[in-house]
Amino acid sequence: MESTRTIPLASDTATKPTEAMRRAMAAAEVGDEQRLEDPTVNALCERVADMLGQEAALFLPSGAMCNLVAVKTHTVPGDVVFAEEMSHVIRAESAGASLASGVLIEAIPTENGIFGPADLAAAIDATRAAPVPYAAPGRVVCLEQSHNFGGGTVWTLEETTEVVEAARSEGLATHLDGARLFNATTALGVDSRAFGCLFDSVWIDFSKGLGAPVGAALAGSRDFIHRARRYKHLFGGAMRQAGIIAAGALYALDHHVEGLARDHQNARRLAEGLEGVSGVTVSNPAPATNMVFLEVASRLGGASGLAEALKERGIAVSVVTGRVRMVTHVDVTDEDIETTIAAIRDSASA
Ligand SMILES: *Cc1c(COP(=O)(O)O)cnc(C)c1O
Repeated sequence: MESTRTIPLASDTATKPTEAMRRAMAAAEVGDEQRLEDPTVNALCERVADMLGQEAALFLPSGAMCNLVAVKTHTVPGDVVFAEEMSHVIRAESAGASLASGVLIEAIPTENGIFGPADLAAAIDATRAAPVPYAAPGRVVCLEQSHNFGGGTVWTLEETTEVVEAARSEGLATHLDGARLFNATTALGVDSRAFGCLFDSVWIDFSKGLGAPVGAALAGSRDFIHRARRYKHLFGGAMRQAGIIAAGALYALDHHVEGLARDHQNARRLAEGLEGVSGVTVSNPAPATNMVFLEVASRLGGASGLAEALKERGIAVSVVTGRVRMVTHVDVTDEDIETTIAAIRDSASA
């Protein structure tokens, strides 16, 4: 058994529900979620709204649908959405925002996913290069916490507040893609409400590091969530006895937030263990959260060459932004980290 196990570093979506989580799911009270009659989903929504300092929340099948529904709720076709250049909403959602909402996305370039008021101002200026009525109106700015392709990077509360205030003063709504918000709040040692309450809309994913099999929840004002519910239905995201999966999410909130600190330690250990390996450069040498990115020399076949070599050694990693990405999570053990360091060192010297 043990010899055939693959070390699952490709993504924190690889997490599988534990026996205890499965028991909680099996025992869930359920009802018709579309009719707001599923008690477990209702309990989860109340819990998430509270944890994010918002009035209400909406349970959705995926994080991508949270971004899709939120952009749709904030905008009308022809509006401008501001988002970081390498953000998930731009790079990894099949142009869903453009397709479903008919918006123009103005990309904000950064080094690591974090931008400041001046970067936002420059993007707003660019959209105002021509006078009204030629220019499209800006509507909402999206932040990503932690920033995935930026290296699992974290917005501090101060950086976030500055950009949110700048956005407000320009009349923009604010949206937080908090797929990994708990990784960020764990890294910073702050309460999730501190971030959640700053935004007009904010969501968290249960199927990443929290280790639940399905689901995400979008939070906002009662009015925002009421309007968002229509798009949840329109996009086919309304469910029936969804308490089964909501129970996994509730279990994750109770039991899997604390462990994120250990995942971050493992990412740091992994990055440190790869220092000085010839042909392999850690792009984020002191990872803030649970991701380690590697630039790989062409002599080793580049990122895909190293990924292939690791696969043969029973280690799954992903290749994104032309780099190897390794993500630590609840199903990656301390021993897996040592095995991976040794395998990369060995592959690089082969
Ligand atoms: C994974 C991810 C999403 C999408 O979430 P799914 O649940 O996979 O649909 C959105 N944003 C970020 C930053 C993500 O990492």
